[in-house]
Amino acid sequence: MDGDLSPSDPEDKTCIFCGAFDKTFTDSGLDLHYWKTCPMLTRCHHCRQVVEVASLTQHLLGECVSSSEYRRCERCSEAIPKKNFHSHALAKSCIPAKPEPIANHCPLCHENIAPWDDGWREHLMPGPNTCLNNPRAWQQATKKTLSSERSSSVSPATAGSNASAAGSSAAGVLAKTRIPGTGTPGTPRKTFTRRR
Ligand SMILES: [Zn+2]
Ligand SMILES: [Zn+2]
Ligand SMILES: [Zn+2]
Ligand SMILES: [Zn+2]
Repeated sequence: MDGDLSPSDPEDKTCIFCGAFDKTFTDSGLDLHYWKTCPMLTRCHHCRQVVEVASLTQHLLGECVSSSEYRRCERCSEAIPKKNFHSHALAKSCIPAKPEPIANHCPLCHENIAPWDDGWREHLMPGPNTCLNNPRAWQQATKKTLSSERSSSVSPATAGSNASAAGSSAAGVLAKTRIPGTGTPGTPRKTFTRRR
């Protein structure tokens, strides 16, 4: 019974939350990823526990050691600190949450986003519609751009074919730009050869 069902197989090296694969994702590597970089996760400011952004509100209202300091706003459905609750509720400026089939409500940017797990993924992972208040997504986006730039310039296959094509065209451009300098009418070339 323990052969097939092993979702937390240490050899998996894939994050079950964001789907990232990394060869450093052994048990401790994954822990570090959960702890610091996974864009689908965040750390609770109160208890330091790593929780899914999608369930941060539930965490604050439920299992968190500080849950007694929070109360759910019926309007935005978010966990609001009790000391701010009255002004929050009175202001009525929060964005009303929509139920699951229509939308998810992001506790980081307080917007309604696409529903279900796909909606969370699209909103929290680095991409064109990334949550503006998810620092982990922005961290990763910068890192990814840097590493992909580096790898594409190093990659031997593409670098080789590109270099020959780019090399010849660059040489052509160079030659063309050089000609007007030395070969324009009235250049000292003839006199030069004559003098020889
Ligand atoms: Zn992850
Ligand atoms: Zn907590
Ligand atoms: Zn609210
Ligand atoms: Zn958001």
